[in-house]
Amino acid sequence: MTSVFHRIPKRQLPVAIRGDGMYIIDQDGKRYLDGYAGGACVSCLGHSQPDVITAVQDQIAKMAYFHGAIFTSEPLEELASILTTDAPQGLTRVFFTNSGSEAVETALMMARQYFVEIGQSQRKQVIGRRSSYHGAGITGLGVGHQVARRRPFEDILPNVFHISPCYEYRGRLESETLEQYGLRVADELEQAILGLGPDTVMAFVAETVTGTTSGATPPVPGYFKRIREICDKYGVLLVLDEVFCGLGRTGTLHACEQDGVAPDFLTIAKGIAGGYQPIGATLVHQKVYDAIVLGSGSYKGGYTYSGHATACAAAVAVQKCLRAPGFLDNVQTMGALLASRLKEQFGQHPHIGDIRGRGMLMTLELVENRQTKAPFPASRGLSSSIYQSALSKGLITHALPGTVDGHVGDHVVICPPLIANSDHIETIVELLGEAIDAALV
Ligand code: PMP
Repeated sequence: MTSVFHRIPKRQLPVAIRGDGMYIIDQDGKRYLDGYAGGACVSCLGHSQPDVITAVQDQIAKMAYFHGAIFTSEPLEELASILTTDAPQGLTRVFFTNSGSEAVETALMMARQYFVEIGQSQRKQVIGRRSSYHGAGITGLGVGHQVARRRPFEDILPNVFHISPCYEYRGRLESETLEQYGLRVADELEQAILGLGPDTVMAFVAETVTGTTSGATPPVPGYFKRIREICDKYGVLLVLDEVFCGLGRTGTLHACEQDGVAPDFLTIAKGIAGGYQPIGATLVHQKVYDAIVLGSGSYKGGYTYSGHATACAAAVAVQKCLRAPGFLDNVQTMGALLASRLKEQFGQHPHIGDIRGRGMLMTLELVENRQTKAPFPASRGLSSSIYQSALSKGLITHALPGTVDGHVGDHVVICPPLIANSDHIETIVELLGEAIDAALV
């Protein structure tokens, strides 16, 4: 494995051999309890799920690839129907991609084409949020704001204006209620639109619940309602990125249901096919579809593998499981258990400043001093040590060292497969406690 151009060349990685429900097994037969859903919420149904395996095998045996301009397929049509049937209001169309980065890029390209079609081609400006992540390509890096990843590419990234994220732990003033804080940060969007010129702004992009940069950070109540109002007032399209937090992860099918808003585009990936095949999707508002179809007739973007039949077959099987009676109820129950057990265990811990999240997406924010919220120096690498220690004990977590909106933050993220039961949750909390103790010695 020496010729792999890996992102972390110095680290020796275990070799994953197979999966088994909530576990991943390495070449030495060591079993790892998966507290990170394969990686970043992808493996929502855990590993080796029999229905999905059968669906993939059946489809690949019948027909693996055809070009989407020549044929459609049963799994593609079925998946489109499933995804649009219970989508947020107005999102009646779906465009398939291969990844989350492409789903975000598709939303922005369609937004641009929409404005060109309706004769508002001066609308080009995109607004994003600091500390956000929306993909690894030029578009996603530009819209996102992960400082270290952007650095080598800064000069070639698209010009995106970034406002503050909704980050209650460090952003709310003591004198403010949650609601007042939410309105104040949301109003930064209005100020940005006015500053840039309302008729030049095309889209605002945000994760409903952030996952990648600042740990799981849910918005405060009312934040997205205000964002939606501002977008409507100035004719700006709202793109909600639920690549990480969508598809059941927060206890509802779409995270934005809990915020009472429907975007103009909703991007999904990761949990769509639970990691069994690579696929993403952009859910699109009917008005965008109509403008494009009535205008030049077709969307001008697209990918060779858009709507790949095997990927769609895997996604159909996964999406049926997520929608099975009781499945999301169980996610809510287990999410509540995870939150309460983490709070019981670590709520008074001197080096855990905040425990936050939604559903089965939780974060511990590590601090040197709880009163001042001062983080440990980045060189301490506490979250990375916790990650390593947990891994050695057979628990997969996620370490998120880095800068969050100008603050050096350090986070541990827990987002197990959505099939976790109460025993798994107990074991996760227990092993995490041991890992934290070991890392702090
Ligand atoms: N948006 C968000 C919110 C993400 O978390 C990610 C992946 N971490 C992406 C976009 C990009 O997805 P992908 O890696 O599948 O391109």
